[in-house]
Amino acid sequence: MQKIVIVGGGAGGLELATFLGHKLGRKKKAEVILVDRNQTHLWKPLLHEVATGSLDDGVEAVSYRAHARNHGFLFQQGYITGLSRTEKSITLAPITDERGKLLVAERKINYDILVLSIGSKSNDFNTKGVSENCIFLDSPDQALYFQKRMIQLFLKFAEDNNQATNDVAVAEKIELVEPNKINIAIVGAGATGVELSAELYNAAQYLSDYGFGKIDNSCLKVTLIEAGNKILPALSDRIINAAHKELNALGVDVRTNTRIVEATANSLITNEGEEIKADLMVWAAGIRASDVTKQFDGLEINRINQLQVTDTLQTTLDDHIFAIGDCAALLQKDGKPVPPRAQAAHQMATTCGKNILALLENRPLKAFTYYDHGSLVSLSRFSTVGNLMGNLVRGSMTIEGHIAHFIYVSLYRMHQVALHGCFKTALFVLVGRLNRFIRPLMKLH
Ligand SMILES: Cc1cc2nc3c(=O)[nH]c(=O)nc-3n(C[C@H](O)[C@H](O)[C@H](O)COP(=O)(O)OP(=O)(O)OC[C@H]3O[C@@H](n4cnc5c(N)ncnc54)[C@H](O)[C@@H]3O)c2cc1C
Repeated sequence: MQKIVIVGGGAGGLELATFLGHKLGRKKKAEVILVDRNQTHLWKPLLHEVATGSLDDGVEAVSYRAHARNHGFLFQQGYITGLSRTEKSITLAPITDERGKLLVAERKINYDILVLSIGSKSNDFNTKGVSENCIFLDSPDQALYFQKRMIQLFLKFAEDNNQATNDVAVAEKIELVEPNKINIAIVGAGATGVELSAELYNAAQYLSDYGFGKIDNSCLKVTLIEAGNKILPALSDRIINAAHKELNALGVDVRTNTRIVEATANSLITNEGEEIKADLMVWAAGIRASDVTKQFDGLEINRINQLQVTDTLQTTLDDHIFAIGDCAALLQKDGKPVPPRAQAAHQMATTCGKNILALLENRPLKAFTYYDHGSLVSLSRFSTVGNLMGNLVRGSMTIEGHIAHFIYVSLYRMHQVALHGCFKTALFVLVGRLNRFIRPLMKLH
């Protein structure tokens, strides 16, 4: 029986494993194995909501083992560290417990067809001090770490305000960079930076309701820093202006044409030597694939470590190895790269699934074409703006408000439908609605 191994169970990889599990695994036509470094999957575009506590990762995450059992594929937890094209095998790093004791030794898994879908991470462009002092939003663990630090800051803020009135002496305490204010700086004004900025004001309002003292917009200062001359560079000027206006109304200090050259423990230094002080700093500027792709037996990679693929999504040097999603480099007909976005990962998973079936049946493989259906940016509950593209709207159409929000949420629903089918997705929607009555409006622990 042919063995298909998919490494990386994210927006693209988990949809592909589910599709091939249904088509091949369940019918015992092939063995489908999904490998991921984590035990659960959380759709990456939700990470900024996890970071601010607007979304509970425990409720939203999908267990790989349970999903594999229900959808006809196998799951192995592991971190890929290398591959051998002659042996047709991948190597997974040993798994240790939190004390460093060995749980699972280094392993090899053989494959007949391999799909690499290990995503990407933030690109700090080797800027001094960034990896030590800034938080990246690349994984649920990092988003949860941000949330923990954010809650601690609000706790400190509430305590400071109490002390001002009670005048209690404290021997040693952590200082906020500005008295009676929480400063958060975000580098990168793409969708992640813009959405996170708005979510922070939403979180601040909820935290006030949940007993963290009187917090209004004047107590929180979010600085959004962008090296380019505009925020959301991929979007039209009309959307950029609408988003800019909304961010200003919330109180976000938007700094364009500002390049960060260094990060220290509590500040960012600009190319003009200005110091932007912050209690918490997030780096959300640009992406690159993991360095691990350099250990993939000479497969061609580009300058940001993405694997070069042909239009059938096969890697340029090996027809039996596919790459999809953020870790794949492919140029569109107009010469622009397929963007690192969830809709691209979703479309690539669909084409890759069909091409693997074709490869097994000795049929010709189809070329992948990326269809940009537009971009939407959610400014938390305050607003949603974006544009729709495609045949339906004949060109590009700008949308805002409730319709925009509905379509924004639909992208996640499409991912859920690919994983769970329509009926279960409808149940998830219902459970989400019920949870808004049963559970707190934000995750507080
Ligand atoms: C905060 C945020 C907001 C975003 N918002 C949007 C949005 O609104 N719209 C949009 O279109 N896109 C958005 N994106 C981009 C989108 O999330 C990605 O383009 C998409 O997730 C890429 O899918 P993927 O399958 O390639 O990778 P991912 O979804 O990142 O999945 C990669 C998987 O590989 C696993 N993995 C990584 N390395 C290894 C390894 N060495 N061994 C084993 N497993 C490994 C990871 O655990 C993960 O499960 C956002 C991204 C972020 C960070």
